[in-house]
Amino acid sequence: MTDTIFSKIINKEIPADIVYEDEKCIAFNDISPQAPTHILVIPRKGISKLSESQETDKDLLGHLMLSATQIAKKLNLDDYRLVINNGADAGQTVFHLHIHILAGRPFGWPPG
Ligand code: 5GP
Repeated sequence: MTDTIFSKIINKEIPADIVYEDEKCIAFNDISPQAPTHILVIPRKGISKLSESQETDKDLLGHLMLSATQIAKKLNLDDYRLVINNGADAGQTVFHLHIHILAGRPFGWPPG
């Protein structure tokens, strides 16, 4: 996949407000928050979108989900929404897989 702004954040070429990182993933505050808490959890591995992930990414995908829940727990978030936009029509604008953690306000359904 081609490099994105998130590759630059992973490589510390541009700053980000990092809230968590380990050997497989990094999480940071969204630059344009859509809720009082808006964090992005991304794999260090370059996967452009969820549908491009492979069977061999199974552990990594589980790790991302568990990391998201652990970050939420650490921040004492009770209710929150996890979002993965897969593809442009679904709202994806940065083509490096990421999970949004959104919290701190009520959310409607269906989403816009
Ligand atoms: P998407 O629309 O692809 O699901 O989400 C991409 C998210 O990345 C958006 O919420 C957008 O605000 C965020 N974003 C884009 N560029 C940057 C950046 O340079 N830094 C940070 N922290 N977030 C970014």
